[in-house]
Order: sequence, then C-alpha cells, then structure tokens
Amino acid sequence: MALFRKLIQLSSTARQSSSSLSSSLKPKLSMTPSLVLAGSFWGFSTTSRQAGLGPTKSDEKPRVVVLGSGWAGCRFMKGIDTNLYDVVCVSPRNHMVFTPLLASTCVGTLEFRSVAEPIGRIQPAISSEPGSYFFLANCTALDPHNHVVHCQTVTDGADSLDPWDFKISYDKLVIAAGSQPLTFGIKGVTEHAVFLREVYHAQEIRRKLLLNLMLSDVPGVTEEEKRRLLHCVVVGGGPTGVEFSGELSDFIIKDVHQRYAHVKNYIHVTLIEANEILSSFDDRLRKYATKQLVKSGVRLVHGIVKDVQPEKIILNDGTNVPYGLLVWSTGVGPSGFVNNLELPKAPGGRIGVDEWLRVPTVQDVFSIGDCSGFLESTGRPTLPALAQVAERQGKYLASQLNKIGKAGGGHANAAKDNELGEPFVYKHLGSMATIGSFKALVDLRQSKEGKGLSMAGFVSWFIWRSAYLTRVLSWRNRFYVAINWATTFVFGRDISRI
Ligand SMILES: Cc1cc2nc3c(=O)[nH]c(=O)nc-3n(C[C@H](O)[C@H](O)[C@H](O)COP(=O)(O)OP(=O)(O)OC[C@H]3O[C@@H](n4cnc5c(N)ncnc54)[C@H](O)[C@@H]3O)c2cc1C
Repeated sequence: MALFRKLIQLSSTARQSSSSLSSSLKPKLSMTPSLVLAGSFWGFSTTSRQAGLGPTKSDEKPRVVVLGSGWAGCRFMKGIDTNLYDVVCVSPRNHMVFTPLLASTCVGTLEFRSVAEPIGRIQPAISSEPGSYFFLANCTALDPHNHVVHCQTVTDGADSLDPWDFKISYDKLVIAAGSQPLTFGIKGVTEHAVFLREVYHAQEIRRKLLLNLMLSDVPGVTEEEKRRLLHCVVVGGGPTGVEFSGELSDFIIKDVHQRYAHVKNYIHVTLIEANEILSSFDDRLRKYATKQLVKSGVRLVHGIVKDVQPEKIILNDGTNVPYGLLVWSTGVGPSGFVNNLELPKAPGGRIGVDEWLRVPTVQDVFSIGDCSGFLESTGRPTLPALAQVAERQGKYLASQLNKIGKAGGGHANAAKDNELGEPFVYKHLGSMATIGSFKALVDLRQSKEGKGLSMAGFVSWFIWRSAYLTRVLSWRNRFYVAINWATTFVFGRDISRI
C-alpha cells in the first residue's frame, strides 16, 4: 500500500512538473473575444475575428488538422508521430466518448467520467507542444484549394461571449466528424426525444428519469400521470436501443423496486421497432434477446412512429403512446456539415474516399470513421458505422501519414503516390450487445451468412464486459470502470439527482 501511494505521489509530481513546463513553453491564449490566439510565434494574424493559424514554413514541422474527437480522430491522434507533425484538433467537445458503455451511465451503473477520455491524455503533445492545439470549435467550411479550414468557436455557457470565426491552414487534413442521428423527418423528434450519443445526453436521461421517479411519488399526482411519467419509451431496436432497454430494466428490477417501492408497479419500458430487433445478429440470438427482454419486463412493440408530441407519440396505426422519457436511437446518417462539403460523396452521402482513405479530388485531405465511405468506383462496400471501423481507420491513417512524414512528404502538396503503401482493409471482428440481467450476445461471425461462433447468456456477458474493459483507452478510465462496476454490484446504482 505504501509503495502504491509512493508511486501515485511520484507520478503526480511528474505530471505537475511537466504541466508547469508545458505552460511555460506554450504561448498564452488570449481571452479577448476579438483575438483567437496571441503572439507572433507562428506568424499569426492576431487582430481580428478572422485570425488563425497561417501556413507552416518549410523549416517548420508540418501541421495535421483533425476535425472531430471521436473514435476515429482520437485513434488517429494517438498514433500520429508528433516528432514529425504538429497536431491541431478542432472539435465541439474536449474528450472522446467511449460509446459502448454510454448506456450504462444513464442509470448510474457507471459514472459519466468513466466513459469520457480527455484529449490531452490521448495525445499529450496537444497540451505541451508549442505548435499543437485543441480548439473547442466546429469546422464550418473547407477551402481545399488553399489548404484552409474555417471554424467557429463553441461558447455554450459563456454568457458574455459570442461565437467567433477563425481559420487554420493545414498541411494534412483528417475529417473525422462522425454522423448524426436519423429522425426520418418525423415531426417533434428533435424537440421532445433525447438521443444517446454524448455524455450530456446520458446526463439528461438520468436527470429526467430520476426527476420523474421522484415527482410520481409526490401527493397530488393522478394515477394516469404517474403511469405516463414512469413510462420510458425507446425507439429503435438496434444494439444501442436494446442495450439501453436492458440497462433500464435492470435498474427497475434491482434499484427501483428497492428504493422507490411506492411506485414500482407504475414504471415500464417499451421498445418500439419498425422491423425486427437486432437485425444484424443471427436468428437464434435475436430470439434469445427477445425472450430475455420480455422476461425482464420490456414491452416490445412493432410499429412505426408518425408523430412525436410533448407527452405522447403517435404510431402509424393511430395508437397513442404516452411517455415520461423518450429515447431515440434509430441509426445514423451524414451530418449537415458533411452534406454541405463540396467533396465527392460515397453511397449514402458520406465523404467519398479511395482505398487509402484519401479524398481523391483534392490534395492532402483524408476522411475516416462514420462520416466517410468508399467511393463507388473502388468497388468496395460501405462499412458499418461502428467504433471498430473508425478506430482501425484512425490507426491505419496515422501509420500512413507517419510514413509520408518520414519520407519528407509532410508539408502541403509534398506527398507522392509511391509513399502510400498497402490500402486499408477492414476485417469484421464480430458484434456484441448486452441485454441486461447479466446476459449478452456475442456474434463472432464475419457476416450474417458467415460461419463462426455465436453465443448468448452469462458467459457472453462476461466476455462483453472483459472485452470492453480492455478496450477502454486509458488505465485511469479502466480503473474507474472496474471500480464503478464493483460498487454498483455491492451497493446498487447511484440514484442521487445532483
Ligand atoms: C450509445 C452508442 C453505443 C455504441 N456502441 C458501439 C459498440 O458497442 N460497438 C461499436 O463498434 N460501435 C458502437 N457505436 C458506434 C460508434 O460509437 C461509432 O461508430 C463511432 O463513434 C464513430 O466514430 P467517429 O470518430 O467516426 O465519430 P464520433 O465518435 O461520433 O466522433 C465525431 C466527432 O466529430 C465531432 N464533430 C462533429 N461535427 C464537427 C465539426 N463540424 N467540426 C469539428 N468536429 C465535429 C464530434 O463532436 C465528435 O467529437 C455506438 C454508438 C453509440 C452512440
């Protein structure tokens, strides 16, 4: 124990001294809204809202700009050699979300911080190297012919600050801006439903769930209102919708029954799906999941949502479904940002890339993760919107750009085709989904028709947990996750509404 404490002290001292070193090395950022960055260190313009990072000189490190801090962008940043490149990440969030475990945070199985990985930990150079940065901003436009991206700051919560624009010149650009939830143009979804994609979504779900639980216990609430408040509706029976429904039913069985005993008979979960749940899994696993969900109290409704109103949804057959919490999880498609980019598109509207993940019509632009897809001319299929695709593309592209950088092709327009090496090849490792009650599905087949191991039950649940624990990026978060799981197992979920 003493040795352990000593080790922690040593590592925190080292961190403190490295952060004080980095703060002394790094030029100060101006807090004045009209200035984006201060100093002539890189030859910036510093006098207007259109300030930014100018082009790099030939004797400076080339600059790789990464749009997005998700699975693809972060895996890329982790692998890029910062001796060869300066890295500038532009994203509206300063962390990566470990999405496979996000559903668990909605009901307090895990804490929010356990699934959020700060970017500075993924790529420390971003906090310490003079030419590397993280900018809390959205990219708004791209000028590939001048190697420039236009960005706008995200100033949510800073009441006195309006967003302002700035520009960044890049030598290499990696577009990893992800996707957005599909709503199929159904009225009211954006206004009344909660999506489950970001940590703040999970926080909103948890707050709403606990608020409804407490309100329904207060005198004066009618029976009908109680039933509505405690009706959790999930739309979309893909892995995310099913996992979230499983987490909710676990929460109800184990925690609500014990701690909200007065209202335990009013709380229900309904999962609405237009086709069949978990359509990418094999028939046997699907049947198992259906049986298990029903057994744990989830009502499965086959239907299509026509309209979403503040307290009820209306299905195609006219059925009204009152709800207190509505979670929307019906798949993803290209974001408005991707739609507006004047770049070639792959089937489905994603940014079109060749076999080396380059956008072929422009120099030095690459795209990875959910926002990109192979161009039809490559003859390759569109890859699924999965973390395992995004992560492997990020890893592959980092090694490609490292090769190019080592060969002297890091600066804008300097790379040659013969430095590319092997094209990107994706091999599916299988799918997993937890369904609550210590049960999960594991499908290790390469495709739905392929041969291979597929299993369900407690052993699968154990494999699911072990696999994701090892995939969590940092030791810090791995430790948090393990401790959260143990605490939940022994003491139950955290149901405080802070
Ligand atoms: C709840 C949930 C559970 C999931 N579970 C699994 C699973 O178990 N297994 C699996 O393989 N996959 C899973 N997925 C899918 C997986 O998370 C995605 O495929 C993966 O996140 C895609 O990575 P990405 O980097 O392309 O996009 P994202 O991870 O979505 O990251 C996109 C980034 O781009 C940023 N961005 C957006 N617009 C801009 C802009 N204009 N400028 C700059 N930055 C921008 C975003 O803020 C974000 O940081 C799950 C997804 C969800 C939501």
